[in-house]
Amino acid sequence: MSLGRPAITRRAAGAAVASGRPEAIVRVHGLTKRYGSAAPALVDVSFSIDPGEFVAVLGPSGAGKTTLFRCLTGLTRPDAGSVSVRDQDIYRIGGRAQRAARHEIALIFQQFNLVRRLTAHRNVLAGRLATVSTWRVLVGRFAKSDRQRALACLDAVGLLDRAYARADELSGGQQQRVAIARALAQEATVILADEPVASLDPESASVVLEMLHAVARTGVAVVASLHQVHLATSYADRIIALRAGRVVEDAPADRVDAQALEQIYARDTPVGSPA
Ligand code: ADP
Repeated sequence: MSLGRPAITRRAAGAAVASGRPEAIVRVHGLTKRYGSAAPALVDVSFSIDPGEFVAVLGPSGAGKTTLFRCLTGLTRPDAGSVSVRDQDIYRIGGRAQRAARHEIALIFQQFNLVRRLTAHRNVLAGRLATVSTWRVLVGRFAKSDRQRALACLDAVGLLDRAYARADELSGGQQQRVAIARALAQEATVILADEPVASLDPESASVVLEMLHAVARTGVAVVASLHQVHLATSYADRIIALRAGRVVEDAPADRVDAQALEQIYARDTPVGSPA
């Protein structure tokens, strides 16, 4: 599948580093978050993610996945710990540096978050907002190069023929592919996908996860929270499993004990119980 951008191999993505592993693009250190007096939603969570890695975050309901994503995107401020994107701590920088760091991150949500009455093409153009002047956005006049770029991104997700359909005329799977095209148009180096396939039928879910996998292969770090262990082990490179706010597993997908992970789901874990 063409993704409309040069095919960057993982090795090339980390070429700035003279040898060994590519330099991590996202670093999470000691993340801790408590809501009020309840048991903590996240406890001392640390990991880092390399360019080109597709990481699945797994965990039963209440494990802290949403809180983790909110902390990664800057929507929820952690009580302790840090989140760095390209060595910039997103909670310590401000102004232009903060905007630049946020621009590196594209978000994909369970409910697609498209503007339903706008065309797929206009939704993808929204990914160009950070690089387009405000007046162009207000009057909806994008440069030809941006419009062509948006079409190329739709082509990359196999939706060129639906470019001028309204978002609400598309199936759920197609809408999620438009959201991926928007992330490509943004030229994000990190994609955070919070339950991206939870609303999709199995076939559409597979297509979307295959696309996220292909996007990761272009050098983008992709982090997706998933509910089904078999989807995580089939498509992700690495699994981070949370339980009661703690990391209980962080391993390459082909080395995780899928049965043990299934048991984490099977157990009805009261939130805040010891991990
Ligand atoms: P998950 O996404 O894995 O289901 P969450 O991050 O939503 O987990 O929730 C982790 C814990 O934090 C749960 O106990 C949940 O009830 C609690 N929690 C999440 N958001 C809030 C909030 N805004 N206020 C209070 N408690 C919250």
